[in-house]
Order: sequence, then C-alpha cells, then structure tokens
Amino acid sequence: MPRFIAIVCAFLILGLLPAAPSVASASTNGSAATQARAQEAKKNRKGKACPTKNFWLGAGWGVDRGSRSHKGVDLGGKRGTPIFAVEAGRINRTKRQSNGALQIVLRGKSGSMFYYGHMDKVLIKNGQRVKKGQVIGKMGDSGSRGQVHLHFEYWKSGRESDAINPIKFLKRACKSI
Ligand SMILES: [Zn+2]
Repeated sequence: MPRFIAIVCAFLILGLLPAAPSVASASTNGSAATQARAQEAKKNRKGKACPTKNFWLGAGWGVDRGSRSHKGVDLGGKRGTPIFAVEAGRINRTKRQSNGALQIVLRGKSGSMFYYGHMDKVLIKNGQRVKKGQVIGKMGDSGSRGQVHLHFEYWKSGRESDAINPIKFLKRACKSI
C-alpha cells in the first residue's frame, strides 16, 4: 500500500510539473502584453507630434467662459516657445481674429483639424503644406494679453462643431504629460 501511495504521489508530482512552464509562459505573456502596450504608446506618439514643448496644463476642456464653454485645452509656457504641426497636412487658415488673437487651423492628413490660438508669431501661410513636427508659429498672448499660452482644439471629424476634449490626444502625443 505505501508503494501504491508513492506511485500516486509520483504521478501527482509529474502531473504538476507540466503546470510549471505554463505559469512561466503566462507571466511571459503578461510582460509581452506590457511590451505591446508600450510599443502601441510609442507608435501613437510617432503618429502625432505634441503641439508645443516645455508647457504646463492651464484651463481644461469645458471650463465656463461666460456665454460659452472652453472648447480646447490651454498649454501655458514662455513667449516664443515653438508651436508644431501635430500631423502632416495643409494650413487651412491663419488669420488675426477681431480680438487680436492670431490663429492657425491645420487640416491633417487624417482629416482631423487642429486649431491653435493666441500665437505671438505665425510662421506659415494659408494653404501651405506642412510636415509633422514642423514649427508653424511661436507661443504668445495675442488676444489674451499677459497670459502666454497655446489654446489647442481638436476637431476630430474635421468639423469645428465636433470639437472634442484634446487631453487624450495630448497625453498620447506629449511625453511630458
Ligand atoms: Zn483656451
């Protein structure tokens, strides 16, 4: 009888052994998934450029602005900080608004549009093709005196009325947030 028990134990142990590699492979899969996520994040960053650098987050999406709500995110920084094209595309318009704010609207290759506001300088022209990451302006406080920042909007569908909160976009495109 003890011999029988020993045999059963041996079978049990042998039966358990193959389980060990599967545990190991499960943890390998776990790190592979983590790696895949990191690669995906890197690819997303590759896909879009951050609209500026050395900035801090200011007013967010939906902040009450009296008659309307804030349809973008404000990125505060120093005057003259470069403003970048977030994707390759064409400048849809650039003009000085009635309140003095210099604006740029970029139509990206993806069909999405990106609105940049309050620039100090605009370095591109209407209709100009731009590359991803190209400097298109300098951060300033035009139309927002004393508050140097970039007002950034994301019109994902390409229509202004469909502006969405760009914070996810910014988190993917900008390493600093
Ligand atoms: Zn704003």
